[in-house]
Amino acid sequence: MKINVVKGTRDLGPKEQARYTSVIEKLLSVSYFYSYTHIETPIIEHANLYSRTVGDASDIVRKEMYTFKDKGNRLLVLRPEFTASIVRMFVNNKIHAQMDLPFKACYYGPIFRYERPQAGRYRQFYQFGVEAIGVDSPYVDAEVVSYGYFALQTLGIDDVILKINTLGDHKSRNEYKKVLKTFFASHIHNMCHDCNERLKTNPLRILDCKVPKDQLIIKDAPKIHEYLSKESQERFNKVTELLDRTNIPFEIDQTLVRGLDYYSEVVFEYHHFDDNGETLGALGAGGHYSDLVKELGGPDLPGIGLSFGVDRLVQVIHGDKDKEDYNPYTLFYLIPVGDVNLEDVYEVLTSLRHEGGFSLDMFNEKRPLKTLIRKAEKRNAKYLIFVGEEEIKNNTLTIKNMETQEQMVINREDYKQVIRSLFFSSLRDQ
Ligand code: AMP
Repeated sequence: MKINVVKGTRDLGPKEQARYTSVIEKLLSVSYFYSYTHIETPIIEHANLYSRTVGDASDIVRKEMYTFKDKGNRLLVLRPEFTASIVRMFVNNKIHAQMDLPFKACYYGPIFRYERPQAGRYRQFYQFGVEAIGVDSPYVDAEVVSYGYFALQTLGIDDVILKINTLGDHKSRNEYKKVLKTFFASHIHNMCHDCNERLKTNPLRILDCKVPKDQLIIKDAPKIHEYLSKESQERFNKVTELLDRTNIPFEIDQTLVRGLDYYSEVVFEYHHFDDNGETLGALGAGGHYSDLVKELGGPDLPGIGLSFGVDRLVQVIHGDKDKEDYNPYTLFYLIPVGDVNLEDVYEVLTSLRHEGGFSLDMFNEKRPLKTLIRKAEKRNAKYLIFVGEEEIKNNTLTIKNMETQEQMVINREDYKQVIRSLFFSSLRDQ
């Protein structure tokens, strides 16, 4: 019986996975430059972690979580986002008492949301992100925004639109929510069902609505900037000044609010449009949170974070997936020649592998030389290493460069040195 992958999830074959790995390696190196250290938290968490933080009224908690009971009757979820887990870790491990703050961490892993699958939107997808927790400063805010911009440049995605806004502090937001409620109350009969719900729970969320006819109304809604406290306005001005001074282009988008409850002050998103003006949605997004640490039982400390959707980054860098190539990339292939003892060749293979450092494989069967060479070609081998009775007797190897067809005989002891120089010269020629 054939069993398909679960809707909204995908297998990543060797070629696709290599693209993900390459993106992750680059993001890790940028994290290193910005002094974020790599951490990991579990994929399963308690369900109330998200209802307490992301918010009961959020789309994530209302309809997108994979929730289940374990055998101990605990209500658990497959994590639907990272920030709450990282903050939970910060609080549980009393990190504030152990180190000089801010705590700067980066992370990577799968995220699960029961959303309608479409281009750039899956039910299992991957995020790479950073959080800086514990210091309330526009410099930390600017640094996280700048990290995201620099990371996209490092990935070769330069035509990025950075949208930034502020949600202000409690005082500003409460004032603004009241004004929004009054404004939308008179239009709500013409708006979508979700907006009707949002008006009751959190009118700020209406600004996030993507329904075109609702957007026409939203366009004329009052803007947060008219209701900002002096402190919030100054903080936002400082962040944008620091971005200007470090040559990071941005657009202030007063309708940007982000769909999670815990955000306050600066919020931002990175967008990319292809040559036809199409977009997969935001490549990454983030914001500041004033109360999340306290909400989870920790001290009164703020934080700021950002998450990239790795699937979207891979899609933008590589375009539509070409036909999946399941052939592993093997640099060197060992070919048993003639009547050689297969056990002897296997022994050579094992010792070369232990010395080597380059991908090396062999066929464990005796077949005509031509057949074995064709098989090695199919596996993208760049060099063949022939081992026959002669080579075993003389303790030598015969190496053939598949591109130039040049062949040379070397002593077994020189193997490591020779393949290293072959490998690096082939890299130089590329
Ligand atoms: P969020 O946690 O909603 O702020 O999302 C952060 C980033 O994750 C977004 O900017 C997207 O790049 C990515 N993302 C969010 N939802 C999905 C999804 N369902 N499938 C793929 N990527 C997603």
